[in-house]
Amino acid sequence: MSVYHDEVEIEDFDFDEETEIYYYPCPCGDRFQITKEELTSGEDTATCPSCSLIVRVIYNLEDFAEYEEESAAITQEKNLAVN
Ligand SMILES: [Zn+2]
Repeated sequence: MSVYHDEVEIEDFDFDEETEIYYYPCPCGDRFQITKEELTSGEDTATCPSCSLIVRVIYNLEDFAEYEEESAAITQEKNLAVN
């Protein structure tokens, strides 16, 4: 699982605002996906649910860290709902 099929900049991913998941087309016909939460925590590997391919996401972690700070209130609400 350590060999990347490709390296893709986050700008080239499609972002679904409802699910907060970034998508990128996979050669198998499905899509690589990685959540905003994963990116914020430093994860940079997008996986395809239909095959074993993975891609490395090129992005600036600081951009996501800042965003997370701004939405801290929303995150807390979510945590309360879960607990
Ligand atoms: Zn695939």
